[in-house]
Amino acid sequence: MKKLSLQELNRKSIEAFRTARKLPLVLVLDNIRSMHNIGAAFRIADAFLVEKIYLCGITAQPPHREIHKTALGAEETVAWEYASDSSILLQHLKKNGYLIVGLEQTDKSLLLYDYPATEDQKYALVVGNEVFGINEEALAACDIALEIPQYGTKHSLNVAVSMGIAVWEIAKRQLKRLS
Ligand code: SAH
Repeated sequence: MKKLSLQELNRKSIEAFRTARKLPLVLVLDNIRSMHNIGAAFRIADAFLVEKIYLCGITAQPPHREIHKTALGAEETVAWEYASDSSILLQHLKKNGYLIVGLEQTDKSLLLYDYPATEDQKYALVVGNEVFGINEEALAACDIALEIPQYGTKHSLNVAVSMGIAVWEIAKRQLKRLS
């Protein structure tokens, strides 16, 4: 086998990406400390046609060299907005028909692979700080929580890895609506 060249990958142009239909899925980054994790969120959102990223609290915003290192330009194509207070944002998203899904290990979490995401439901996927997780108020605003099961010794996954897994789990059910 041979690896595909950039040309053979045949990706969308920046313009085509901007106008492409997106999934009914937004990401809410609640107080993310690492710019590399923020950049990774943009790259994930680009790959799976996520509608928008909300950067909340201490989460840094583009343009920034450290975000660019992992976003590799996706920070210029994926729609984003800064919201200082994630709880106010979540109330607003809820009013607009989004199901607020905390990606978090809680006493009420459902396992991600058991959760039947649907094509037509709008989802806001909330992820939390690398040390403290999703803040209490934002967690209270979540309709459900989803947990990625872990079988090793570590308590949690890297937040960007968690986003990659969860976005794919939802996107694989929604992408067919775009085709
Ligand atoms: N020790 C922290 C860990 C935070 S990890 C805590 O007490 O929460 C940073 C973020 O990654 C979490 O807020 C969550 O959004 C996500 N995350 C990490 N591992 C996860 C898992 N197994 N299931 C769901 N979300 C996870």
